[in-house]
Amino acid sequence: MRTRTQVGIVGAGPAGLLLSHLLALRGIDSVLIEIRSRAYCEARQRAGVLEDGSVALLREAGLAARLDRQGLEHGGIYLQFDGERHHIDFRELTRGRTVTVYAQTEVVKDLIARRLADGGDDAIEFSVTDTAVSSLDTDRPRLSYTDASGVRHEIDCDAIAGCDGFHGICRPAIPAGLQATWERGYPYSWLGILADVPPSTDELIYAHHPGGFALHSLRSPSVSRLYLQVDPDEDIANWPDDRIWAELSRRFELPGWTLHRGPVLDKSITPMRSFVSAPMRYGRLFLAGDAAHIVPPTGAKGLNLAFADVAVLAPALEALLHGDDKPAAAYSATCLQRVWRSTHFSWWMTTMLHHTPGADEMEAQLQLSQLRYVVGSTAAATSLAENYTGFAVPPAAS
Ligand SMILES: Cc1cc2nc3c(=O)[nH]c(=O)nc-3n(C[C@H](O)[C@H](O)[C@H](O)COP(=O)(O)OP(=O)(O)OC[C@H]3O[C@@H](n4cnc5c(N)ncnc54)[C@H](O)[C@@H]3O)c2cc1C
Repeated sequence: MRTRTQVGIVGAGPAGLLLSHLLALRGIDSVLIEIRSRAYCEARQRAGVLEDGSVALLREAGLAARLDRQGLEHGGIYLQFDGERHHIDFRELTRGRTVTVYAQTEVVKDLIARRLADGGDDAIEFSVTDTAVSSLDTDRPRLSYTDASGVRHEIDCDAIAGCDGFHGICRPAIPAGLQATWERGYPYSWLGILADVPPSTDELIYAHHPGGFALHSLRSPSVSRLYLQVDPDEDIANWPDDRIWAELSRRFELPGWTLHRGPVLDKSITPMRSFVSAPMRYGRLFLAGDAAHIVPPTGAKGLNLAFADVAVLAPALEALLHGDDKPAAAYSATCLQRVWRSTHFSWWMTTMLHHTPGADEMEAQLQLSQLRYVVGSTAAATSLAENYTGFAVPPAAS
């Protein structure tokens, strides 16, 4: 079946979903395709912290009704090390800026519901197979896929947005030699659990511990999200729930404070990686979100970077469709400034807080010195707070 649209979008994660909505606000047609089912996309456990700028963007785009009711505004984080817990007060340090805890599953549910309500049932094609992109260096790039009922589609587009995550097909469609990539693996992974128990803290706790890093995050007033640093090749089968809770209690231990336990709803191990691929454009193909860059989750940046990319991309595509290539030509360089800032911040948080296997005692002393400096110096704490709460994002309707 041969059809036509203005923008073909590959991937219904946060980047692709928000982009199709921002384009619709501008009166631009898009076709959004996704290899997974709607239920799978809505249940995939990932991020949960939204920067100030991401919240503002969702509000301006008319997508924040449930976020405003259910999101939990946080004015800081705790850093725990050397047997003490310290508060970093974002509001005080950054003139009132905050972050909002609202699970990526809920963000994705809200975005899918809105696209289907505005664009009808075929605004998103779930469960497609054999996605391909071609003719990217022409002004009629083509998106091809087979739909869930087995019909093959060929869609002629004005532009294609590759929002298909790190393992997608769009980045590899760029001819070899035209992309530069930078990559760093870390010698540890995160074992994450989702637990049906009210959080034992009012704000996230980042714990530096000789046994390894731990993070107490949350998803709602009744659901906790907790992480443990583990070896990169760790097998989840070695971690029955009791062992996880015991290790979490050990790493968060403080006199007078108790970690509440509850049923584990989800359990997984995630590798830690920094990755940047540039430029984020080839011809009429534009990469956004994890398709172009990955950060370790310590800085809570991945989802926010995906949103910031498409906030820049939507007006750039609108201009391109009206014959003005300038914003599209600037797209990659504009996004990469934020991407590299977040890549540095995520690397900095990660290396300050994790125990590097095989590292000597000097590393621990350097980390502790850095942590003492962050909690003891207004300048250092402000730098963390400014990066964590994030930088301004272009408005939804710019
Ligand atoms: C396991 C995991 C845990 C994470 N935890 C955190 C966290 O705690 N905190 C944090 O800040 N960030 C976290 N992140 C990062 C954050 O979730 C991502 O940065 C965010 O999802 C990026 O959104 P995206 O839309 O760019 O990519 P994705 O969310 O990856 O969406 C890409 C979409 O494209 C689809 N797709 C792939 N290939 C194709 C194809 N060929 N055709 C059609 N569709 C395709 C995928 O199924 C997916 O739905 C985590 C990421 C992972 C993988």
